[in-house]
Amino acid sequence: MGEPEKPDPSKPWCPKCIGHTPFEKRESRHADAPPPSFYCKHCNGTKMYLPDTMALGKIISGYAGVACMLMGIGGALIENDLKAFYWFGGLGLASFFMSWWANRRFSKWRGWAKENDYPGD
Ligand SMILES: [Zn+2]
Repeated sequence: MGEPEKPDPSKPWCPKCIGHTPFEKRESRHADAPPPSFYCKHCNGTKMYLPDTMALGKIISGYAGVACMLMGIGGALIENDLKAFYWFGGLGLASFFMSWWANRRFSKWRGWAKENDYPGD
């Protein structure tokens, strides 16, 4: 085993190995490319994530969830039709779920980073 990697939220992190392990980066071939994916070389290809991206995703999904809820309520009041409310409400819930999920992933890294002397906020 080499030196333990220093916590760095801009580096891919493997939730299985609990660390910034060596990784393989796979770029998407599509033009409207989603961000590249990272796979752990240490444990045979566990999908890794960037803590920075998770922190950002948490905030964006949270706002998106709130925006959907507001649009749903607004739509239901203006159109006097509950369909808008169900639609946007569903989207809002999905966004909140994404936010919760991203937050959990980020927290997992954060906990590990703290144990490894990451100064943090
Ligand atoms: Zn791994």
